[in-house]
Amino acid sequence: MPVKNRFAELLPEITAWRRDLHEHPEILFETHRTSAVVAEKLKQFGCDEIVTGIGRTGVVGVINGKTNTSGKVIGLRADMDALPIHEQTGLEYKSKTDGAMHACGHDGHTAMLLGAAKYLSETRNFDGKVVVIFQPAEEGGGGGREMCEDGMMDRWGIQEVYGMHNWPGRPIGSFAIRTGAFFAATDQFDITIEGKGGHAAKPHETVDSTLVAAHVVTALQSIVSRNADPVDQIVVSVTSIESSSKAFNVIAQRVHLKGTVRTMSKEMRALAETRLAAIAEGTAAAFGARADVTYHKGYPVMVNSEEQTEFAADVAKSVSGDCEEAPLVMGGEDFAYMLEERPGAYILVGNGDTASVHHPEYNFSDEAIPAGCSWWAEIVEKRMPAA
Ligand SMILES: [Zn+2]
Ligand SMILES: [Zn+2]
Repeated sequence: MPVKNRFAELLPEITAWRRDLHEHPEILFETHRTSAVVAEKLKQFGCDEIVTGIGRTGVVGVINGKTNTSGKVIGLRADMDALPIHEQTGLEYKSKTDGAMHACGHDGHTAMLLGAAKYLSETRNFDGKVVVIFQPAEEGGGGGREMCEDGMMDRWGIQEVYGMHNWPGRPIGSFAIRTGAFFAATDQFDITIEGKGGHAAKPHETVDSTLVAAHVVTALQSIVSRNADPVDQIVVSVTSIESSSKAFNVIAQRVHLKGTVRTMSKEMRALAETRLAAIAEGTAAAFGARADVTYHKGYPVMVNSEEQTEFAADVAKSVSGDCEEAPLVMGGEDFAYMLEERPGAYILVGNGDTASVHHPEYNFSDEAIPAGCSWWAEIVEKRMPAA
């Protein structure tokens, strides 16, 4: 079965919603206007329950099927937040907020889930209950985690959850998914190397924190090359080096390193944390300096459940004719917290040959809307078939 005809009819309307959201991007938990727009539309559609303020600015809507003998409850989740990027698309509906932009397509995700909610409210051709979840702060703020911490899963008895992200470089409306670990755990680290500053012409009277930092940066690469099993995935990147000296003739007292670690399993994550501290502290000590290491845990590994992933892939095939196996992604995804609480699946939908996400020229492709909406609707209608 191809895309649902109803979504072809609704395409102009859903596109208009998407472009309105695009014009009004809001960052992290500041999705006040977006949340209000979402709640208002859910009300217009005739959703049975609408609750705002879950996970600060998150919105939850409930749609009951014609019957509910199955007792099944499925959660469908979209993200609503934008990025602190200055938009350079030149679109007529470009961001009206300087320094904020929908550069990850969350405007499209929100519009597609709203489209599915409208259709499901109209038709209710399923036996069970749908919970539509609109989360703030996917881009590093942990809005999904906060919605879970507010007790969302238990409050609405959600049994499975599904998520979707657009994917530049894939044909528009085509799908890709994988079972198991899919998106990486995203951690950050700070290392402060404390030496002894002094005159650059008298290095023997100093402990050169710059030299120590250089050795630490190099040695950290041995976590990937010598500590990690070569068949596992891990990224260790030092992304910032800041010295307390700005002068050519002053040896710095202190150097601050920052970076990120990406892993695909709990074991690799623990290994990276332990080795990072040991290498930084041990290397600094060898030179008579000190390293203070802080390891900040970000989003966990996002793991797709086997049964729900197979089902989601079958639905994608029925909508688009095919569903490919997606490659591993070393980026992070806040939906990981929802998948830690409930089984479910996260799928990629092609955005065509556009700029990549987080690029100032990126734009969500409205032509993907019918496929995305159809996938949402069929997840519901096939998982909870009408009695
Ligand atoms: Zn993003
Ligand atoms: Zn995103």
